[in-house]
Amino acid sequence: MRVFKFGGASVKDAEGIKNVYDVLQKVGYEDVLLVVSAMGKTTNALEVVIKDYFDKSSALQSSVQEVKKYHNQILLDLFEDDSNAVFTAVKAQFSDLDYFLAHNKSPNYDFVYDQVVSYGELISTTILAHFMNHMDIKTQWIDVRNFIKTDSNYRDATVDWDLTHKNISKNVKRKTLNITQGFLGSDENNFTTTLGREGSDYTAAIFAYCLNADSVTIWKDVPGVMNADPRYFENASLLNQISYREAIELAFYGATVIHPKTLQPLQRKEIPLYVKSFINPLLKGTSVSRGVNLEPYLPCFIVKRNQLLISLSSIDFSFIMEENISEIFSLFHEFKLKVNLIQNTAISFSVCVEDKFYNFNELNAILSKKFKVDYSQNVTLYTIRHFNDSAAQTVENGKKVILKQISTETMQIVTSEN
Ligand code: ASP
Ligand code: MG
Repeated sequence: MRVFKFGGASVKDAEGIKNVYDVLQKVGYEDVLLVVSAMGKTTNALEVVIKDYFDKSSALQSSVQEVKKYHNQILLDLFEDDSNAVFTAVKAQFSDLDYFLAHNKSPNYDFVYDQVVSYGELISTTILAHFMNHMDIKTQWIDVRNFIKTDSNYRDATVDWDLTHKNISKNVKRKTLNITQGFLGSDENNFTTTLGREGSDYTAAIFAYCLNADSVTIWKDVPGVMNADPRYFENASLLNQISYREAIELAFYGATVIHPKTLQPLQRKEIPLYVKSFINPLLKGTSVSRGVNLEPYLPCFIVKRNQLLISLSSIDFSFIMEENISEIFSLFHEFKLKVNLIQNTAISFSVCVEDKFYNFNELNAILSKKFKVDYSQNVTLYTIRHFNDSAAQTVENGKKVILKQISTETMQIVTSEN
């Protein structure tokens, strides 16, 4: 069995849906399970709905309407005949959403988030399944919430592998085209949960693991995993083959092609992962598997913008040792600052962090009582795996380097650009 994942960008409009059909025609669809995300930017649009709901904003009606209109247009573009059952099916799902918003009593933001945001995937898979049937490909639409069971940690739920494994290995039919939702699961009480933003890759890996699949393919709008983001680097090249370990390292340093959680289950069963272009599905793309060399052997660049470089030094020239460091780290943890680089000397300690939740000012007040705190905002962190001189030069060229760290395989450079 093969597991395919189609992300939001691949199903963002009627053309995208038709293209999924073309891809399946080209690469085959018997014994395939499709994991599909919400269409285009639907998850973001539903996040706006949730915000309006909690703000009790008068904009709620129109933000819901946006989402309905967007899907309705796709339906009209796909099906000439609006008596097709898909219109009723999608309408019913939107009625469920309206009902939830009108009757929900729970003040729990994360709970409400998952109940609402899940309509993105439920609707996208409904539309895709009906379209395949319309094109005479028989499909089996499955509600992922009957398969992937999780705890009740809404928005970032943890998978109950035992239950999930049982459900999937027993109840997924083979020799057919299964279509299911990425990103979703359900808890003990059958409330919807989600696996974290961009979690659909992970869903594909969960199914592959439990089905002992032959492979997972993630279909993308790029040719595969590149050695650099083509938006920032002129000569980005496709990597034909990388190891799980390399892929995990790249994801760790912030490469966004593969969701980090995805690799672990695949690696455990040595299920190969392919990253391919949904525009040119017959091209090889990138293959991720065990122990293979990076091919071609190129430096890989990862860029993280909007970082904060913080340097702490002791006020009285005492050493910064384990005790201080563990205290500093638990503060970072508490204030949700993600540490991307660490460097320390006897009396100073520098970290490059991401302050996603804008907590630094509050943290700074606490740190400043014990340390001398210097910081630069808006710096950029470059990571180069398999660096060489010319790779370092490409990054440093014309920029002010404020910190550099080198290990055997990895170079990290912090620059301020203005
Ligand atoms: N639709 C979800 C998101 O945008 C899950 C995914 O696309 O992987 O985060
Ligand atoms: Mg998405």
